[in-house]
Amino acid sequence: MGDEAFTTRVARNARFANLSAGYLFPEVARRRRAFQEANPGARVISLGVGNTTEPLSRRIAEGLRRGAERLGTLQGYSGYGDEQGLGELRAAIAKRLYRCRIEPSEVFVSDGAKCDIGRLQAMFGPGVRIAVQDPAYPVYVDGSVIAGAAGAAKSGSGAGGYAGIAYLPCSPSNGFFPDLSAVPEADLIYFCSPNNPTGACATRRQLEELVAFARGRGAIVIYDAAYAEYISDPALPKSIFEIEGAREVALEVNSFSKPIGFTGVRLGWTVVPAELRFSDGTPVSKDWNRVMTTLFNGASNIAQAGGLAALEDEGLAELRASVAYYMGNAAVIKGGLDRLGVESYGGTNAPYIWAKFPGRSSWEAFEEILTACAVVTTPGSGFGPAGESFLRFSAFGHREDVEEAVRRLESSLV
Ligand SMILES: *Cc1c(COP(=O)(O)O)cnc(C)c1O
Repeated sequence: MGDEAFTTRVARNARFANLSAGYLFPEVARRRRAFQEANPGARVISLGVGNTTEPLSRRIAEGLRRGAERLGTLQGYSGYGDEQGLGELRAAIAKRLYRCRIEPSEVFVSDGAKCDIGRLQAMFGPGVRIAVQDPAYPVYVDGSVIAGAAGAAKSGSGAGGYAGIAYLPCSPSNGFFPDLSAVPEADLIYFCSPNNPTGACATRRQLEELVAFARGRGAIVIYDAAYAEYISDPALPKSIFEIEGAREVALEVNSFSKPIGFTGVRLGWTVVPAELRFSDGTPVSKDWNRVMTTLFNGASNIAQAGGLAALEDEGLAELRASVAYYMGNAAVIKGGLDRLGVESYGGTNAPYIWAKFPGRSSWEAFEEILTACAVVTTPGSGFGPAGESFLRFSAFGHREDVEEAVRRLESSLV
């Protein structure tokens, strides 16, 4: 036996070789470590992650606890449940979050929005042409590459991504809403509002335009509403299904992760309207149901008990308090950036602030803030080419840390 590692005869799935390196967060972590090693006394504060930080609220934690305790009793025990989720939870989602705009049978409960996006990509299969907002949450593109979406297998052009994917630039100059007339042929359009990373929230008129565009093209909108509960302006739609005509052209993924801190608990859902059909007339919900019953075995019954508690009156009040806490952080960050004269967006209907650092690359701005303030942010260029020169500030953090980070920014960045 030589020094060479044993290899199997199994060829690597070429799509993985085509995937551009998962560069962003590992690189952020590497630079943070390097800074900490060079400055062992520094207390680094992160405004970089899109992960919740505050403990679960009382009622919701109690819902989880009760769910777990029931499993320890003869009467309360349950094994596999319906793959689509507890009927009671599907009904509560339809009633309390969608005000009966959708039917409980259209709600498919899951282990989270990201997982659903991956399974949707498996359902639509290879060959679909996709369009994404630029910048965007990475799973839309990377998951499409893994699933073999059209063009996505061609080699990428640097950070700019894949030749066959339509990137729709979203910037201050277009109010973070893409020029849809410039979209080439596309079957699926990923649209995230409130947006991660830009913090932009689409208006009713913009969503009407999106729905009209999808209807005109016969395309499907995959609407990511993971931050819907962060919308404070009552004029802004919380769901694509508030838009007339959306039921024939859109499905919506959503999650308990960000509004109630279930990032680790894992609970989400996808709404697939009965009217959404493939070109041969097959309801999309039929195949989605098949995906969920074949590749998924139902969300955790404990997590669903927590979700049910969150949709009772007290739970919803706690949800609002949790959102208000993080949005208080967003106001602290936005206030600091305003006083520094930094041009920033978002932070009012989304827990992200998108700040522009003209004349610098995102990584240069990132380094400057890390070095001067021991504060970690996220380079906007990691979310797509249009993110260059921006940094994403996340409102997820403990208030004291956020306040301290902003004090440091104000005293060091002049
Ligand atoms: C965090 C996030 C998700 C992930 O949701 P999970 O339910 O935790 O998988 C989905 N979409 C966006 C835009 C997110 O930021």
